[in-house]
Amino acid sequence: MNRTKETIFSKIIRKEIPADIIFQDELVTAFKDINPQAPTHILIIPNILIPTANDMETEHELTLGRMLTVAAKIAKQEGIATDGYRLIMNCNEHGGQEVYHIHIHLVGGKPLGPMLV
Ligand code: 5GP
Repeated sequence: MNRTKETIFSKIIRKEIPADIIFQDELVTAFKDINPQAPTHILIIPNILIPTANDMETEHELTLGRMLTVAAKIAKQEGIATDGYRLIMNCNEHGGQEVYHIHIHLVGGKPLGPMLV
């Protein structure tokens, strides 16, 4: 698999295909997952292509930090911050990664139970 190629997420960032975008700035984009696993399931992605967690470099730290602060802001907006939620980033096959453009899953809106491994 060519992991340096753009994915469907780049098209979502550029608004070339529809998505329920709930936040976008110069560094990151957040939108609702098309196949939600919980009442709230939002993906937070960098606007630049970083294929996997293994490709995160020092030069990306501002963007990666923004992904986390945007996740926290959205959790508050969605009203799930106090009850709690989970932030997940899958990496490669064993991690269950399907789209090779890193993304944080923000999931919540119900008790999620213990982390499954
Ligand atoms: P991964 O398994 O790579 O961590 O998660 C990829 C996520 O992207 C999945 O939860 C999947 O439902 C979501 N997804 C895949 N294609 C699209 C799409 O075209 N639009 C949206 N909104 N979500 C997508």
